[in-house]
Amino acid sequence: MTAQLMLGKDTAAAVKADLDREIEDLKARGIIPRLEIIRVGEKPEDMAYENAARKRFEKLGIELNVTELPEDVTEEEFENSLAIKNEDPLVHGILVFRPLPENLDEERISGLIAPEKDVDCMSPVNIAKVMTGDEGFDPCTAEAAIEIGERNGIDFDGKKVTVIGRSMVVGRPLAMMLLQKNATVTVCHSHTKDLAEACRGADVIIAAAGHAGLVAADMVSEGACVIDVGINVGPDGKLTGDVDFDAVSEKAGMITPVPGGVGGVTTSILARHVVLAAGRKK
Ligand code: NAD
Repeated sequence: MTAQLMLGKDTAAAVKADLDREIEDLKARGIIPRLEIIRVGEKPEDMAYENAARKRFEKLGIELNVTELPEDVTEEEFENSLAIKNEDPLVHGILVFRPLPENLDEERISGLIAPEKDVDCMSPVNIAKVMTGDEGFDPCTAEAAIEIGERNGIDFDGKKVTVIGRSMVVGRPLAMMLLQKNATVTVCHSHTKDLAEACRGADVIIAAAGHAGLVAADMVSEGACVIDVGINVGPDGKLTGDVDFDAVSEKAGMITPVPGGVGGVTTSILARHVVLAAGRKK
């Protein structure tokens, strides 16, 4: 292995050091930052994220409350629960776990969440701000991918960055955020004809496709930075990213592992957004 490892725990510790000061300042003003999670049912991935957030927030002194709704919750019941949290002055951030069950209108609900509490960029108001570069809330995972690169010394300005994936939660907003940082961005997706070619010239590759082993060593330039957002569960239950880690780490200059990379930073960014929301509140 020749690549420098970019570990999520190091970035999370650096974010925590910044947040500790800000949380202390808020507490001195009588404000305790608080996140409300709205969860429908008990999907394993939701429970895993909720537990990770709980651990992170406990260490930081941020309050976290979960509204649990049954799988068969009606649109009206869901909207009533959301409205209560939108109006509660003690709630600074709201996170709705997605995807919502089919009986709920996710698009309509996205439009109802108070934009100033929308800490994971679900509202069209915040999505528009990702496009314009105005201050709102960027999606936590996309921001985590950038954060881990920057905390390891990557300056995206002028870099050729290839993003693999164009979903609304990771790839697409990530591309906009990188443009805002003056990177030259190529976005690849499932219809891209020659993914290898699009990756070979890149200074930085960010993979967010959900396809194990997609990024092979022959697609990576010598010394490139490789950030792996993918999370895939193998037949043996083992977690892997989208990058062929063993082979690519012999060629890349820097690389994030899975697990232990971007995933460990996402809840730190979520915490930062809750603190931001609490501080912005008049
Ligand atoms: P998604 O399924 O919504 O989108 C996947 C994207 O990848 C699509 O745009 C698709 O076109 C593209 N894609 C799929 N196969 C491809 C291929 N062979 N070549 C090129 N492009 C391809 O997934 P998502 O929600 O954007 O998540 C992407 C990955 O990131 C998943 O593995 C997910 O588990 C992971 N994820 C990680 C975190 C984290 O905290 N680290 C958070 C969210 C998602």
